[in-house]
Amino acid sequence: MTRLFNFSAGPAMLPTAVIKRAQQEMLDWNASGMSVMEMSHRGKEYMSIASKAEQDLRDIMAIPDNYKVLFLQGGASLQFAMVPLNLLGDKTSADYINTGMWSKKAIAEAKRYCTVNIAADTSDGGFTTVPTQEELKLNSDAAFVHYTPNETIGGVEFDYIPETNGVPLIADMSSTILSRPIDVSKFAMIYAGAQKNIGPAGLCIVIVREDLLGNAAANTPAMLNYETHANNASMYNTPATYSWYMAGLVFEWIKEQGGLQAMGEINQRKADKLYAAIDNSAFYANPVPKANRSWMNVPFTLADADLDAAFLAGATEKGLITLKGHRSVGGMRASIYNAMPEEGVDALVAYMKAFESAH
Ligand SMILES: *Cc1c(COP(=O)(O)O)cnc(C)c1O
Repeated sequence: MTRLFNFSAGPAMLPTAVIKRAQQEMLDWNASGMSVMEMSHRGKEYMSIASKAEQDLRDIMAIPDNYKVLFLQGGASLQFAMVPLNLLGDKTSADYINTGMWSKKAIAEAKRYCTVNIAADTSDGGFTTVPTQEELKLNSDAAFVHYTPNETIGGVEFDYIPETNGVPLIADMSSTILSRPIDVSKFAMIYAGAQKNIGPAGLCIVIVREDLLGNAAANTPAMLNYETHANNASMYNTPATYSWYMAGLVFEWIKEQGGLQAMGEINQRKADKLYAAIDNSAFYANPVPKANRSWMNVPFTLADADLDAAFLAGATEKGLITLKGHRSVGGMRASIYNAMPEEGVDALVAYMKAFESAH
């Protein structure tokens, strides 16, 4: 058996220890005589799995009691619609910060429901920066402010939490949640698709302040109303039971690693190593200012794009896979989420040096 270092942006690597644990429990969970996949979501076995996962997430993120944690389906992309459907209330506009491909998708969806004010837009620079707080044109009568703290494709990350002066702040944290400690109380709502830093695909986690519930537009489908899911402990219908269970194993693993403080230290070290390898060479380049470089998604280009294919082929031979950059950016992208071991980053850096010397 070989496990490769998989730099995919998502679905991404899961901790080997988590997959092994799932393997051990695969046929018979905790002497229940059932696989988790076969359990009724309303049975006592599954209920214990589900509530432990929620409690562990609350513990590691220090989620205040006045927030609901929802385990939903439809990915982060469904949240692009659910956010305006649920949170506009009697307002008619919302502020969106446009810092990349995922912001753009959120904006396109929101436009179906409200007037979208673009509070800032970094497309001019090819989405390689983030706006400063002073550059944000925020409206005091916006229903909410939406932004993407980490742009998965551009590898651009906010180094501050926007101050919105009381307007609810909504964050698409799909590619940065659990990468380090964050102050949840600064946000009205956080959402994240699972397949980057949480667990398998099929699950989307929503952390929403309770006072925001109950204002959904009248024609909101029950399944798209946060209140429905909050009132039913995310079991209004059958949830993504296995993905939820796997997420729970990941939360336990994070606790064992020392929680988000420890994850943050490891992640920063991993990112520092990779950016140092890029910066200390005339062969590799990353266009993002240091303060805004993502810890999770590291795009880089080679001095000669004609060598891209050879770089990728050589990397695959070394067990370093899925390094091809997004088509909109080109070059390479190494996604180094929590489950990417530090040895994976070390191996990539060593390969980059060897490739550079050879060319
Ligand atoms: C991957 C990603 C999404 C889309 O997630 P899905 O679960 O595929 O809908 C949205 N936003 C960001 C920031 C992402 O990285």
